Amino acid sequence: MKRLSLAAVSLIALMAAPALAQQTPTISENSVTAHIGFLAGEELQGRASATRDEAIAAAYVAAQFRLSGLTPVPGMDGYVQRAPVVKTTPSGAATLTLGGVTLNQGADFAIMRGGLNAASGAVTVAPSADPAALPAGSETLMVAPAEGPAVRALFGAAMRSGAKLVLLRRTEMLAQATSDGGSRDPVIRLADAAPSTGPVILVLSPEAYDRVAAAGGSIAYDPGASQVEQGFTSNAIGWLQGTDPTAGVLMISAHLDHIGLRSDGVVMHGANDDASGTVAVIELAEALAAMGPHERSILFVAYGSEEAGLLGSRYFVEHPPIPLEDIAANLEIEMIGDQDPQLPEGVMMMTGFTRSNFGAALKERGALVGPDPYPEQNFFERSDNYALALKGIVAHTVSGWATIPTYHTADDTIANLDIPFMTNAIQSLVAPLAAMADGGFTPEWSEGGRPAAR
Ligand SMILES: [Zn+2]
Repeated sequence: MKRLSLAAVSLIALMAAPALAQQTPTISENSVTAHIGFLAGEELQGRASATRDEAIAAAYVAAQFRLSGLTPVPGMDGYVQRAPVVKTTPSGAATLTLGGVTLNQGADFAIMRGGLNAASGAVTVAPSADPAALPAGSETLMVAPAEGPAVRALFGAAMRSGAKLVLLRRTEMLAQATSDGGSRDPVIRLADAAPSTGPVILVLSPEAYDRVAAAGGSIAYDPGASQVEQGFTSNAIGWLQGTDPTAGVLMISAHLDHIGLRSDGVVMHGANDDASGTVAVIELAEALAAMGPHERSILFVAYGSEEAGLLGSRYFVEHPPIPLEDIAANLEIEMIGDQDPQLPEGVMMMTGFTRSNFGAALKERGALVGPDPYPEQNFFERSDNYALALKGIVAHTVSGWATIPTYHTADDTIANLDIPFMTNAIQSLVAPLAAMADGGFTPEWSEGGRPAAR
């Protein structure tokens, strides 16, 4: 067969594909692997919240946005929104004292939350671990939870009980949750937010717990010394200008930070949580930009400091680069690096699926999304979508496997990702999101689906 000249080949390709710009671009496993290799690789050390590693991750995402043809949001002078934070790093050991006896952090207890504040008061032992039956108005509340995930509900009830100090008897799950040394890691808050005044929650060894419960009386928690420094966290933000400024903006987001270098020297890479979602945002930006201008503008965001308490998204909604009422819907992508065996093959779960018509509309258009099989876990409120939902924006999170065993462990690495699943999941979102950006669909809350503003 005669070889055609290069020009002739190009011409034939053009004639065969007259609507080239409208075709759905292909997401390649190689591209996904390349991005995740940088974000979750050794060099970035797990992208810890409000660190230089996080800033480098944001700069990388910004560079990809630029490369894909996105611009800064009109009015911003670049692709990165910097949020000032205050970082407090404990430098001394915390202690608990009662009746002349001192209990030490590490040997006798671990800090679950609020460990920077001092707290003290008379001990009340809860008669049972039933969250609905916790005594109200006690100064120091002691509870012995049952083994298993029911501790989450108990935790919430303890937070609301009004106690200044909550002492939990250690269970297997609580031991795992506090195994990283708790308060040795820095506590980060937005500089324009007040320091937390919530209760101090400690997890006591069974021996220490039983001893305090038997002794009764008054107990005092001393957080020890700490160092305070100013810093910033970075949100990478890109803009794809639409043709109709009145059509409402579609927003696609993820969080780019993770836990980073733990105080015990272990690197937490967060390949799945949430380098995978960040890669999805990068890939979707490239694909949707390549499909040509859409009716709606599209905002792409990769937040910083999610792991420090959803700080990037909270800052974003308090300092939005565009009016929040212009955002028609937000899709947050979190942990799509592997699939939940409980879900139909290839399908992601969407949190709060029935709260709006957004998930059903994506699914109708071919997105591999379905309802969340764990409504009792309340994942809808536990991701960056929630800050926007509280402002009235139809906002949901899609995940491949929200209860994955590698969650917040040192095993959340690139080697443990399912790249074909992830690539396919991202691919399935391209055409449905493009269709939504091209109008003809208005995201709306279902009856009672919108969360009450706080
Ligand atoms: Zn996480």
